[in-house]
Amino acid sequence: MNIILFGPPGAGKGTQSKYLVKKLNAFQISTGDLLREEIKNNTDIGISIINDMKEGKFISDKIVNQLIENLVFDPLKKGKLIFDGYPRSLSQAENLNSLLINSNQKLDLILFLNVDKETIIKRLEKRKTIENRSDDDIDTILKRHDKYMETTQPVLNFYSKNPNFKEIDGGLEIHEITRKIETFINV
Ligand code: AMP
Repeated sequence: MNIILFGPPGAGKGTQSKYLVKKLNAFQISTGDLLREEIKNNTDIGISIINDMKEGKFISDKIVNQLIENLVFDPLKKGKLIFDGYPRSLSQAENLNSLLINSNQKLDLILFLNVDKETIIKRLEKRKTIENRSDDDIDTILKRHDKYMETTQPVLNFYSKNPNFKEIDGGLEIHEITRKIETFINV
């Protein structure tokens, strides 16, 4: 199955995609992880995005689209893609659509983890103490959330008419979200 996990930072996309990777023997495509990897490896892309990432700014569609392209076309990953944090803009959603068409694939499930701002702030502050991510301080959390709200509405509109679009209350406990997801993947 090709699955998109969609929702604000802190909605639990990473946790649930790791579960799906194991359960379905699939591959996680986390643009956040891919971007952090570029920074870690000090690549040209990494150097160009380091400040924007720290500040919780949106990275250009061109860069993220470029990072995922080869992964979508990888024959080993075909039909086993779990998108975590991508697409985050209408342009990215349209790009993914054409990449999937061109690689003869489809989207089997679009999971929207919907969660309110207060829950997110609590979760991300907790995550900061565990993962020590530089973009998990309160100002950046709020910035990332506002940016998310601004860019995601068109993405939601784009997918919400798709029969494979499912909304889940992302405020539930991790295992409850997982149980709901299981009802959609028939395992
Ligand atoms: P995440 O790990 O998904 O929370 O992403 C962390 C940060 O990486 C975001 O706040 C953005 O700065 C950047 N980022 C991740 N995915 C994308 C994307 N699809 N489009 C633009 N920026 C992204």
